Amino acid sequence: MALSVSCTSSRPHNHKKLRGPHSPRSFLGVKMPQFGARSLEALEYVEPRLRLVLDEAIRFWDFSVLEGFRGPERQDELFTQGATKVRWPNSAHNSLPSRAVDIAPYPIDWEDTERFVQLAGAILTIARQFGIELRWGGDWDRDGRMSDERFRDLVHFEIMGES
Ligand SMILES: [Zn+2]
Repeated sequence: MALSVSCTSSRPHNHKKLRGPHSPRSFLGVKMPQFGARSLEALEYVEPRLRLVLDEAIRFWDFSVLEGFRGPERQDELFTQGATKVRWPNSAHNSLPSRAVDIAPYPIDWEDTERFVQLAGAILTIARQFGIELRWGGDWDRDGRMSDERFRDLVHFEIMGES
């Protein structure tokens, strides 16, 4: 059975040769993905309830955590690029711990937006099971529709309510 594991390395390599942190875990005999080193680093300063949802999701869905907390330089760099609508310190990525994460299905294929939508469905369902309110960047107004959104940020998830 082909198995992919979370990994954000840009250099080509064979996952079958990897050991240690990249080795797949198993649960009831079923192989499960887990976070790669870059994902774990990005998760370091993430709001605990948001982290809880992601820790649960990675057991069943393979994805990479691209970014959690963002400092002033990074936030304004992304603003200049048009990748975000807000400057420092107005993003949910700018609080400590970060109230937002950007995640992508692994292996990442930016053209395949359906996989991002599918992952979002899984993340939002898991959050709901925990009674945790999340907002996804594909549905900012949380009405369950994507078609009414002018700015889509399919990688973005943020926690709602008080911490
Ligand atoms: Zn984001």
